[in-house]
Amino acid sequence: MARLFAEKVVLVTGAGSGIGRASALAFAREGAKVVVAEYDPNSGEETAALIQGDKGEAIFICTDVSKEEEVKTLTEKTISTYGCLDYAFNNAGIEGKIAPTANCPTENWDHVLAVNLKGIWMCMKYELLQMLRQKKGAIVNCSSVAGLVGFKDLPAYVASKHGIIGLTRTAALEYAKENIRINAVCPGVIQTPMIERVTGGNAAVQVQFEAGEPIGRLGQPEEVAAAVLWLCSGAASFVTGHAMVVDGGWVAQ
Ligand code: NAP
Repeated sequence: MARLFAEKVVLVTGAGSGIGRASALAFAREGAKVVVAEYDPNSGEETAALIQGDKGEAIFICTDVSKEEEVKTLTEKTISTYGCLDYAFNNAGIEGKIAPTANCPTENWDHVLAVNLKGIWMCMKYELLQMLRQKKGAIVNCSSVAGLVGFKDLPAYVASKHGIIGLTRTAALEYAKENIRINAVCPGVIQTPMIERVTGGNAAVQVQFEAGEPIGRLGQPEEVAAAVLWLCSGAASFVTGHAMVVDGGWVAQ
């Protein structure tokens, strides 16, 4: 059977773990050549090896998305290796320190915004320059339900995730006529190492998260990956500037 992304090239940031890894594996299963961008060399190499072990095509490029030179090199190496860039999932993100607004350390604010918001803008900047040359492409940025509503004690994270939606909508308008679609995903509580860090392995907190989900359980990274692949696919050809919620009904409450 023909695979959805045969011969296509996709770049996934933060692909060493959680939602990024699940998305990289899902793109590879659909035939895409995957650029695994991750700043942890061990987990990045591991994702690339998982894809290659499943007879897929992948390269790992060690990248800190908060460093412009590394982001520029990421797209340059992608093009020199595979010749084009069809899709990008700008997923890398951090939760930062948990503290209310008045106690949020300035360095935490700067770091979270540098990775989550400036990082996504810089990734888009270099991806778009290539997609404009090709006259086609699709980008998905990882926001969150924290991009739609406030969360106590996560001011920098919430601000960065709201900012991603504004950036996504703006770029979508700018490049709609250039055959480039730009959307965001807004995951709810998804079972990944990030959520394990937030719950601190505390079973009671996990149960509390599950109880807050209308669907009665936490999401799996593969369920977010499915939305990302759909947004990149031809089935979403008339969808741009959209922030797609994948949250088991959480923001519907
Ligand atoms: P995760 O398991 O912690 O994965 C995030 C990945 O990004 C990790 O591999 C991490 O590397 C990498 N990363 C961190 N900073 C980076 C940087 N500067 N440059 C390149 N890579 C970097 O978390 P996740 O839950 O999959 O989160 C993925 C995205 O989904 C994030 O943007 C997050 O905000 C968003 N999200 C998650 C949830 C959820 O419930 N899990 C909900 C809504 C939104 P290290 O592991 O080495 O730090």
